[in-house]
Amino acid sequence: MPVDDVTAVGSGTGATATIDLDAIAHNVAVLREYAGDASMMAVVKADGYNHGALAVATVALNAGVEELGVTTIDEALTLRRAGITAPILAWLHRHDTDFAPAISAGVGIGVSSAAQLSAVVADARIAHVPAVVSLKVDTGLNRNGIPVEQWDEVIEALGRAVSEETVHLRGIFSHLACADSPQHPANDRQADNLRSALARVRAAGLQSERVHLSNSAATVTRPDLRFDMVRPGIAMYGLSPIPELGDFGLRPAMTVSAPVALVKKVGAGEGVSYGHTWTARKDTTVALIPMGYADGVVRHLSGRFDVQIGSRLFPSVGRVCMDQCVVDLGPSGAGVTEGDTAILFGSGDGGGPRAQDWADRLDTIHYEIVTGIRGRVRRSYRGLGAGQPGKTSGEVTR
Ligand SMILES: *Cc1c(COP(=O)(O)O)cnc(C)c1O
Repeated sequence: MPVDDVTAVGSGTGATATIDLDAIAHNVAVLREYAGDASMMAVVKADGYNHGALAVATVALNAGVEELGVTTIDEALTLRRAGITAPILAWLHRHDTDFAPAISAGVGIGVSSAAQLSAVVADARIAHVPAVVSLKVDTGLNRNGIPVEQWDEVIEALGRAVSEETVHLRGIFSHLACADSPQHPANDRQADNLRSALARVRAAGLQSERVHLSNSAATVTRPDLRFDMVRPGIAMYGLSPIPELGDFGLRPAMTVSAPVALVKKVGAGEGVSYGHTWTARKDTTVALIPMGYADGVVRHLSGRFDVQIGSRLFPSVGRVCMDQCVVDLGPSGAGVTEGDTAILFGSGDGGGPRAQDWADRLDTIHYEIVTGIRGRVRRSYRGLGAGQPGKTSGEVTR
């Protein structure tokens, strides 16, 4: 995962993941249109899908997002320590999680079983502060969440905890299995199941402040599933939740680039990179890009992706190595010189490469591409950042 750039100028590879904070703000505005009257939780798990959770959270909150969602309590506490005071919900815990730090920090705890609820209640009794709890109901994903056979038991225990004021019931939520197929019958079944869980909670005399179900894909395609709040992740980073249906007006926020390290001639008949899997058919010129599979340029992409230098695309040739890869500039060298910026993927404007292109080649999804950028890649931020404290326009290195 990219880290702060603390190295001396020029001593690293120069590979950079540039995060366009204006694009994040734009995407939040687009999603708020889709959300209508519903409020919005920005999902910033996995360090903001590798875009930097703190920067993304700050921009999203400034752009009108009300709450933040993360996976672990650890992720939530990191945001709290950085000064984020907005509601945060964390929804994946260990069998032996100590909930006390989350309770003290007012971090919302997504509860996925009766055992988790009793652990939360026990820790809240000791802390003498009510735990902020949201019930994560399994409505058919069959992954995380309270299974239907535990609903009654959990609701009963919850009723006791709420009346003794060890728990504040913040919300009830669930996660869709097939949201990227908007008309899949599982979506309606899950929504119905969430409604019946909600009815049981209400029948027990409990009130919840927020009911939510929709991830990005449902936010942009199923207004009927909004409930009180939507919970988008990937769309906020500008990647289409359903690429087959278009870009929904979103702008990709991450651009991965590196300065060309070397330009050299390769004669006809010569092989390039390990195993000589590619041989120059005629005299040509190649450029060395200082990124390899240790940085997230998956080896299986060898010879199957294009890099943008200036306004032109150049094909990868030969094997992607741990630290570097090579592109063919053609016989003339196309005017490319050492130090020119090579874009591996980014906004896609003007036909440039996108994370989606890598995903297509690799038979995966763009989520895995952006979260897979790592190694020696350094992260930097661009754009106004909608009021990021201490940041000005232009390129900003953390
Ligand atoms: C990751 C996640 C989301 C966001 O999903 P996207 O597809 O990125 O919009 C929402 N809710 C839960 C519970 C999640 O785990």
